[in-house]
Amino acid sequence: MFCKACGHEIPNDAAFCPSCGAPVNGATPAGTVPPNAPPAGGQYGYVPPVPPVTPVSYEDADTLLKVASFFIPMVGIILYAIDRDKKPVSAKACLKMGVIGLVVWFAVPLLIWLFAVFLIFGVGAVAMA
Ligand SMILES: [Zn+2]
Repeated sequence: MFCKACGHEIPNDAAFCPSCGAPVNGATPAGTVPPNAPPAGGQYGYVPPVPPVTPVSYEDADTLLKVASFFIPMVGIILYAIDRDKKPVSAKACLKMGVIGLVVWFAVPLLIWLFAVFLIFGVGAVAMA
């Protein structure tokens, strides 16, 4: 048989390549394998430990931030400034919600005020006519 690492011919019963020292048929130097390591050269690839998943998903957090940006436009603008490099899409969405929130918070009282003015002066004008 031949070494998979260097291609050198090696005896069939050899555990290591005499030429380059690479392990043959999944053999590993004694003492280098931790007890819980997966079998070397086995059919299972090594899977690194998965970090604990945070309870709130990114989508939920983004939705929460967008809602916050709407009700507090300043939050959206600050979030955009913080996140525009890391999360451009999410940051732009926050800025958009912030701008919409800003418009709504300015437009709604203005419309109420205009409506009140129209009501008072409109009624007054009709009464005087
Ligand atoms: Zn070799």
